[in-house]
Amino acid sequence: MKRITRTIGALALIVIACSLRLAAANPPEWTRSFPAFHIAGNLYYVGSEDLAAYLIVTPQGDILINSNLESSPPQIKHSVETLGFHFNDIKILLISHAHVDHCAGSAAIKKMTGSQYCVMDADVSAVESGGKNDFHYATDASMHFPPAHVDRVLQDGDTVRLGGVVLTAHKTAGHTMGTTTWTMDESEAGKTLHVVIVGSPNVNPGYKLVNNKTYPKIASDYQHGFEVLKALPCDIFLGAHGSYFGMKAKYVRWKAGDRNAFIDPAGYRDYVADREKVFRDELNRQRASSR
Ligand SMILES: [Zn+2]
Repeated sequence: MKRITRTIGALALIVIACSLRLAAANPPEWTRSFPAFHIAGNLYYVGSEDLAAYLIVTPQGDILINSNLESSPPQIKHSVETLGFHFNDIKILLISHAHVDHCAGSAAIKKMTGSQYCVMDADVSAVESGGKNDFHYATDASMHFPPAHVDRVLQDGDTVRLGGVVLTAHKTAGHTMGTTTWTMDESEAGKTLHVVIVGSPNVNPGYKLVNNKTYPKIASDYQHGFEVLKALPCDIFLGAHGSYFGMKAKYVRWKAGDRNAFIDPAGYRDYVADREKVFRDELNRQRASSR
């Protein structure tokens, strides 16, 4: 009897530990809904409070950037419809990078819309294996997601075109092997605005920047990514997470009538500089401790 009680006790602890782990893996702001809104020109925000998703509307159909978590597609669909658009008009699906919080909904969205899925070459294997070929999270089931077939493999600098819109895919790898920063030009009140949607310059906890056997050139990829980001002209600063660009605070200004709230070239420069410093400090720390 004692043994059974002990076993039940141990099982209960495992269940508690697992749910704590899940809770830690998914911050509430990832799933909390957020009002959809117009950013500029034909560009709209359709993500959650922190997981960004962008809709680009064209006369020949729409482009969606990021499918977010496996549970996110109904939320994204709702946001698209709140704006008065049709989810079925999504013809092209793109992502910021092949992590569970930006691409887990892709299989469902492809099924719902029949859209063409375009992914940067070095992220294709992770996307099509559902994260099981990820260089860091291959054995971490909490980071796995429904695999989705990639219809078009992108190379660095490729463009995605639809209905007069041109999006450029910049490989800013390191965070994943194919992390993609998207750029496009919008015109608002006769002015051209350069839009940058940052893929992710972040070094995740546990990432090995030195002697990484599954991703030997991780450090030089990050380095190259920062050079790319620093060279991009940016007026409208956006990214894969709302927290990258202070989305919530900017939305408060936008709601109060400030239609320029997302124009933030200085904020972009500061963000990239800050992330580069964090990366370099971590690289130096790892180099020093590997000596
Ligand atoms: Zn990520």
